[in-house]
Amino acid sequence: MPNKPSHYDVIVIGAGPAGFASAIRCAQLGLKTACIDDWRNKQGQSRLGGSHLNTGGVASMTLLESAKIYHQLNHEAAKHGIHADAISLDLPQMIARKDKIINELGHKMAELFTHHKIAHIQAKAKLLNARQVAITSGEGHAQTVLDADHIILASGSTPINLPCAPIDNEFIIDAIAALNLHEVPKKLAIIGAGVVGLELASIWHRLGADTILLEAQENFLSLLDQQISGEAYRVFQQQGMDLRLGARVISAKKGNKKVTVEYQDQEGTHTLRVDKLIVASGRKPNSGELAAPEADLLLDENGYVYVDDNCRTNLPGVYAVGDLTLLGPMLAHKGIEEGVFVAELIAGLHNPINYDNLPSVIYTEPEIAWVGQTEQALRATRVPIKVGIFPLSATVRAFALGRTQGLVKIIAHADNDKILGVHIIGSQASELIAEAVLAMEFSASSEDLARTIHARPTLSESVHDAALALKERALHLPTVK
Ligand code: NAD
Repeated sequence: MPNKPSHYDVIVIGAGPAGFASAIRCAQLGLKTACIDDWRNKQGQSRLGGSHLNTGGVASMTLLESAKIYHQLNHEAAKHGIHADAISLDLPQMIARKDKIINELGHKMAELFTHHKIAHIQAKAKLLNARQVAITSGEGHAQTVLDADHIILASGSTPINLPCAPIDNEFIIDAIAALNLHEVPKKLAIIGAGVVGLELASIWHRLGADTILLEAQENFLSLLDQQISGEAYRVFQQQGMDLRLGARVISAKKGNKKVTVEYQDQEGTHTLRVDKLIVASGRKPNSGELAAPEADLLLDENGYVYVDDNCRTNLPGVYAVGDLTLLGPMLAHKGIEEGVFVAELIAGLHNPINYDNLPSVIYTEPEIAWVGQTEQALRATRVPIKVGIFPLSATVRAFALGRTQGLVKIIAHADNDKILGVHIIGSQASELIAEAVLAMEFSASSEDLARTIHARPTLSESVHDAALALKERALHLPTVK
């Protein structure tokens, strides 16, 4: 264990997006801060960034970028007059690039910790009480107790394992192992067509795997605006993914280098034989070993740490941020904002988070992004609304990119025109949504967006045009009266 002072103003447990952000902001505010995390990379080196950087969102998105290039060379380059006849896939190199990027980003985070004089303690932490944390180092299991005036819990989440599909990480694998395969499976099944399942399918399907998604729910992406989920279903099916809805997996067994998967739908029980099965059936908070029983940290029945609207747990001076709580969805940027919010709260500032304008993104291709309420939710509560829809097939830049699939949908209040929701499926939707978030944060009307000049030719014109369409004056669509 390195020689560290044993008392801090703030101890942060976990160095994922939420923990990292809270540690940096605490240090910026002059608080003596330690951040404890036990993550090690494949080489056994200590690494910041948590699962989001190392095995989750960033890792997955990085691999998807490679998969998109491979797919474009195979299926689109010829249309551009580029003939790349001898394309071959070096999967270990692709994975190595992903790991290199992750390592570089992890290094940059460590440099920032050093710059801000944050003590990074490589160890496993356990909350003992409202003021004390026990840390156990990897080697020798020596235990030390650290004191702090404030403790921020940011230990994140891990994939949920299904008893019906026991992970062996060779044939039946979790979402982490799914980013480190040695070869492309010929036939791949994925349990769960949620965010993770779809992001992984987007990678492996592009690299050549015959991909089947088995989703227990009858409705595809049921949280999304139904028009967007309907479009997403159509686009992914068209890409060749085999999406089976209402298909609940009941067993998975490996044997003879294959996995036999049994699932049930309305028509009965079916059997599939695949080369790999990925389990992407949700995530659970990492709270099991976070606190000693005598700490009396209050959890709900699913292991989420109980917090009030200010991320305060039941223990005075102890806060929880990110995936550990139910304050919002499991999103890295939600965790980052909570981390900053709590650091500022500790320093005597109160800058509440507006959860209403939290953007969500699914990193598929095309991407899906949204903010605010869906048309269905607004109609169910009888809010009078107007809707503007603009297809990317009417956007100049989308044509140039060869990315004309998708649409932008803007929903505004029918009386005061305030924007209530923006839903996008299309290339770079993750970037386009930022404008909508900003507009909503400033309580903009759809007219404000419609009167804002957008550069041409850009994909952002589709957001502009959707605002114009809401007023039946889109320039690049026939007027619908
Ligand atoms: P999810 O809940 O979105 O999807 C899991 C799906 O698995 C569900 O639709 C569920 O019905 C299905 N399922 C469960 N058991 C099944 C069975 N036996 N047979 C068939 N289907 C079954 O969970 P996820 O995709 O693992 O994501 C977990 C969390 O992490 C989410 O909150 C997500 O928002 C977050 N996350 C976000 C991003 C992002 O922002 N892009 C990326 C990764 C994860």
